[in-house]
Amino acid sequence: MGRIVLVTGGGSGIGRAVAARFRAAGDTVVVTGRNGERLARAAAEIGARAITCDATDPEQVARMADELGPELDVLVNMAGGNTDLTAPAGEGLGEVLRAWRANLDANLLSAVLTTTAVRDRMRPGGSIINIGSIGAEYAASSYGAAKAALAAWTAGLSSEVGPKGVTANLIAPGYIAETGFFHGKLSEDRRSALIAATHNGRAGHPDDVAATTFFLASEGARHITGQTLHVNGGAHTTR
Ligand code: NDP
Repeated sequence: MGRIVLVTGGGSGIGRAVAARFRAAGDTVVVTGRNGERLARAAAEIGARAITCDATDPEQVARMADELGPELDVLVNMAGGNTDLTAPAGEGLGEVLRAWRANLDANLLSAVLTTTAVRDRMRPGGSIINIGSIGAEYAASSYGAAKAALAAWTAGLSSEVGPKGVTANLIAPGYIAETGFFHGKLSEDRRSALIAATHNGRAGHPDDVAATTFFLASEGARHITGQTLHVNGGAHTTR
């Protein structure tokens, strides 16, 4: 099909599966991430191009956009993760503020920065796909609140890029196993509870999200924009 596809956070987990799905269709794929070594390895295996970039750093994002080139068809804002799992807030309001800002940076502002840097080069027929979370439905955490804000922003973005023939949608995955997100941080009880909350009794797989992403970027999805698409096996809470 010959499209140019950018997947932020494309060096592991769901992003890697998304990148591989587009590559399998013959698209040119660029993946980004902070861990340059892992990114380069994944890119070589997939047949993608790697650009090391922290999506929360405006200077790195501007440089990545320069390296990307003048045209883009599909932008997948996958970079993110619950920073509370790796750097929980300590005591005091200052620590709470730091922890909230970390999740807002990682999950909301990363997508805002990347989209702002590349949206003017998107060709008609293009698609922007942001990755939210089931956690946005019960946003008692900074992670859930960041993903809820990302969903709201995506709907507004759709109205801005729509006249240029570009769609903007958000995929909200439920629990997706076999990624770095929960790696080593999920008790067996919690994992069982997440699976029990689904209607089909299974954990999601990165390929489930990859298939949905690929569809949203296809001609058949041209009239789908400004939407949140839930890929969660029917689960509707992470409480
Ligand atoms: P992974 O940890 O495997 O993937 C996250 C990817 O994002 C990594 O490749 C990481 O690369 C990259 N990343 C994180 N922060 C940045 C940053 N600041 N700049 C650039 N890249 C960054 O987990 P998943 O594949 O599970 O997560 C992918 C997305 O799916 C995330 O947005 C997550 O919130 C979302 N999600 C995941 C769910 C799950 O159950 N797994 C459920 C719902 C949503 P690097 O470290 O090299 O920067």
